[in-house]
Amino acid sequence: MKDKPVTSLPNEVVVSNFIRSIIDEDNRAGKWGQRVETRFPPEPNGYLHIGHAKSICLNFGIAHDYNGVCHLRFDDTNPEKEAQEYVDAICENVAWLGFDWGQNLHYSSDYFDQLYAFAEYLIAQGKAYVESLSADEIRERRGTLTSPGQNSPYRDRPVDESLDLFRRMKAGEFPDGKYVLRAKIDMSSPNMNMRDPVIYRIRHIHHQRTGDKWCIYPMYDYTHCISDAIERITHSLCTLEFEDHRPLYDWVLDQLVDNVPCHPQQIEFARLNLTYTVMSKRKMIELVESGLVDGWDDPRLSTLAGVRRRGYTPKSIRQFIERIGVSKADSWIDVSVLEDCLREDLNESAPRRVVVLKPLKLIIDNYPEDQEEDCFAPNHPKKPEWESRIVPLSKTIYIERDDFMEEPAKGYFRLSPGAEVRLRYAYIVKCVAVDKNAAGDIEAIHCTYDADTKSGTEGAKKRKVKGNIHWLSAKHVGQAEVRLYDRLFVDPYPDTGDKDYKTLLNPESKEVIVAYVEQSLSHAEPGQSFQFERNGYFIADHTDTKPGKPVFNRAVTLRDSWEKITSV
Ligand code: ATP
Ligand code: MG
Repeated sequence: MKDKPVTSLPNEVVVSNFIRSIIDEDNRAGKWGQRVETRFPPEPNGYLHIGHAKSICLNFGIAHDYNGVCHLRFDDTNPEKEAQEYVDAICENVAWLGFDWGQNLHYSSDYFDQLYAFAEYLIAQGKAYVESLSADEIRERRGTLTSPGQNSPYRDRPVDESLDLFRRMKAGEFPDGKYVLRAKIDMSSPNMNMRDPVIYRIRHIHHQRTGDKWCIYPMYDYTHCISDAIERITHSLCTLEFEDHRPLYDWVLDQLVDNVPCHPQQIEFARLNLTYTVMSKRKMIELVESGLVDGWDDPRLSTLAGVRRRGYTPKSIRQFIERIGVSKADSWIDVSVLEDCLREDLNESAPRRVVVLKPLKLIIDNYPEDQEEDCFAPNHPKKPEWESRIVPLSKTIYIERDDFMEEPAKGYFRLSPGAEVRLRYAYIVKCVAVDKNAAGDIEAIHCTYDADTKSGTEGAKKRKVKGNIHWLSAKHVGQAEVRLYDRLFVDPYPDTGDKDYKTLLNPESKEVIVAYVEQSLSHAEPGQSFQFERNGYFIADHTDTKPGKPVFNRAVTLRDSWEKITSV
């Protein structure tokens, strides 16, 4: 059984965490001379997701709060999977979240010369050797968690021979896989990472930055700690799966103590796990490549490109990361926590508009045929300084289909035959008849209005009705494509155990409709957010909105409707 995900969290700003405590202590002890330098080190082999936002906010946030700096470093040691396209997208995502790396944009590949020189140094010190066994043979001798590994017959190969072979590996004399360079540590260590890990391999492949200069590439564990040290990082924050790699991180830097400027401290924290989503680059690639979503920035994906397009604001994401805090214990966060952060932000910042998503025609029988009048709708209910706008009324209007029930359920206070509701910002109307077509489908409803009840007048105060629905004048509407997005998966943990997440997709995660909108919305700019009254928060799609032809994405509904659904 999974722990129940965290669904509600304190609202206050989380000011401290165990990482900050370590930094405070270092500062008290004068360990780094008050210097705080962190880094966010993505591999440019895919798009960033909301999990990465945790690492970004943590690294940049800490640097900011301690008057330090945070580097953006591309860990680009795997050229077959990496591309400039990803580098560009990652830079864009980090900047979008509101962070600035200033002059500190780095690439591990900038250090290839130094990494190589250090490797020669390790060989010379008897701390590394060239291995002739194949990958399979290495694996067979590696031992298990309960039994030690076996020393390679090449472990004690003379230093000169290793050096010569390593130089020839670099010179391109051997095919891929012929040799590797291994650190000479301890084949019987209980920590598998310490059993003479491979630190260099041969790959005849073009690198997006260094071109064809190299045909040997350093491994992650060897590269990462040295890159941190070269950049004089003080606190190297990473996720818990690297805890077992920390002894290797420290071992490498201990061997190079005379060669690198400092020995950063690796500190691990729990990764973000979010319900109703998959969060590994590999699985996201599968979803994109199998066409199950519409590309990397599909608004249903948890990529940062996707959530941006969905309508998430950088502020809401930073708030979310702040709210969930940082700890060393793995936990699940319910996606509703993220959704709430967006609601809170947009509730403040999004102007209100009226949109009828699924229209039903309503004719006000006693309203004069060619009369039109102005109704005034506030742009924000709590911000009078945002003023009001005119929403015109005429005899024929559209309301939401859901706001009428021919046979009202118990507790239904909207329209039904004989019932009264207020048309928001206008009059009270009473349903007097229903038009149906030959098939029996409702085509229009007829109402009468009470001319003494216009909103904002004295008369309005005298009569109260329970229902209060939105509407748009048929003569005055514009049209827009609206994409009603919902969660991508029906299962809260689609990516756990032996579940096949591809079979757990929510078939209703995207519905595309043409809605009636206030005319001013026809000029919405890409990226503008609104609250469509009673319907949720929407954003004008960044990519598909064209002048005069907006496309709106539903970012989030006004309230969480999943709590109920998933507990049945
Ligand atoms: P994925 O596991 O999704 O493929 P990754 O860990 O391979 O991602 P990297 O480019 O190596 O991606 O990640 C860069 C940084 O982001 C690393 O320091 C990593 O620890 C951190 N990170 C990745 N996923 C999460 C997460 N879910 N929560 C917090 N930090 C994360
Ligand atoms: Mg990784």
